[in-house]
Amino acid sequence: MAEYPLIELYIDGQWKRASGQPIINPADESVLGTVPTATKADLDDALAAAEKGFAIWRSTAPAKRAQIILKAAALIRERVDVMAAAMTLEQGKPIEQAKLEILRGCDIIEWDATEGLRLYGRVIPSEPGMRHTVLRQPIGPVAAFSPWNFPMSSPARKVAGALSAGCSIILKASEETPAGAFQLVRAFHDVGLPAGVLNLVFGNPAEISEYLIPQSRIRLVTFTGSIPVGKHLAEMAGRYMKPAIMELGGHAPVIVCDDVDPVATGAASAIGKSRNAGQVCVAPTRFFVQESIYEQFAQSFAERASQLKVGNGLDPSTQLGPLANSRRIDAMETLVADAKAKGARVLAGGQRIGNRGYFFPLTVLADLPDDARAMNEEPFGPLALVNPVKTLDEAIEKANALPFGLAAYAFTKSASNAERLAESVEVGNLSINHFVASVAETPFGGVKDSGYGREGGTEGLQCYTVVKNVSHKTL
Ligand code: NAD
Repeated sequence: MAEYPLIELYIDGQWKRASGQPIINPADESVLGTVPTATKADLDDALAAAEKGFAIWRSTAPAKRAQIILKAAALIRERVDVMAAAMTLEQGKPIEQAKLEILRGCDIIEWDATEGLRLYGRVIPSEPGMRHTVLRQPIGPVAAFSPWNFPMSSPARKVAGALSAGCSIILKASEETPAGAFQLVRAFHDVGLPAGVLNLVFGNPAEISEYLIPQSRIRLVTFTGSIPVGKHLAEMAGRYMKPAIMELGGHAPVIVCDDVDPVATGAASAIGKSRNAGQVCVAPTRFFVQESIYEQFAQSFAERASQLKVGNGLDPSTQLGPLANSRRIDAMETLVADAKAKGARVLAGGQRIGNRGYFFPLTVLADLPDDARAMNEEPFGPLALVNPVKTLDEAIEKANALPFGLAAYAFTKSASNAERLAESVEVGNLSINHFVASVAETPFGGVKDSGYGREGGTEGLQCYTVVKNVSHKTL
């Protein structure tokens, strides 16, 4: 039977129980446990621990650091089944997707750990008697804020980046889905990470961010979540001159050219959209399909969407779990009602399933006007919007029309179309002929309102460092 862990704070290498808010199972609305609330004194302890942890960790040999981090990843791989079950209980995603998320988190941790060995500086050629050396050093204690949609892989990105670069970190993970981060941190504790290097807190997100970000001991802020909250935190970070990594929302366009198989691409789109019930910042959402294949594509998409088995994520045959909270149900209902009122066709889904548990089917809407709310607001749920376009130029113009710029997708067999898309679509991540937006070794992040800074790849790790030039005149 799936078990849910007792969630505790983790400060200076010690676990701490505290009272707090209930954690709700989105499949049946039962209470799974309590997420502890950190007090101001806990946050002060975490800051002191992070300062002490940084002093220890930055002076630990990079090879030793990598060894500890890799051990934690290996332990997480061993525990994947137990960890995945807890994540399905708290977040709703199908158990196979929870396992994949954890394994992907391990890929990220392992890649960053070894890349941490290669944070090279350089020596700049200069006049005789003068040596300019550029050093890349860990930036210092990090304040990290991770969301509820990827309870393990999002915190893993932040913890892996910070620790692999030699930084300490205070992680405030999601209060709604705390087990992913809790189990991640427990693995680092169990393999002997020095006390203070990694600290985990929960509580009131606004109170914690307002307390931590201004602190002089915090040297970097990293946040994954909504654009309004991201802008607020970025403003605060700016006021205190803290660099920030902002991984915010998206509204990913998918451009389908008329040289691809519309039936296969439509079916693949339904699977791509169904991942984590569409609660993904890179979820494919606005489909712009060339006219000659439009109807065939839309029908195939709707047919495959209607076949998905919706249910409790613990059932291995479930393909679409519940949404993570009731706010997402409200958002889907509002966006679908608005689109229908403005003339959109409902090709699949459209209505909440039952009234216990937050189930909503994969919904395919077609022929939406540009002013439909769903075409402008990130649905962050199982909503796909399918519209015809005449030309590639028109598709690119529509793709770029919103202030978002995180991920985009395109399907084409033409190298010249692909080249044109790569040049002109305004995003941080463009995937052509598939729906994977990022892997451990590639930089991931947005442009425009979708944020700045990168997670993953060499660029991601560099965000956790500062560059120092040492100019040495030899006497
Ligand atoms: P929300 O805007 O209330 O919260 C978004 C996230 O930010 C949550 O994890 C929350 O705990 C945190 N948060 C809120 N206020 C904060 C503060 N002052 N300081 C620090 N953290 C704070 O929205 P929500 O209902 O939880 O999520 C819905 C929206 O959030 C979606 O529409 C989507 O745009 C966005 N979201 C994006 C991602 C992503 O991966 N980029 C992940 C989750 C949510």
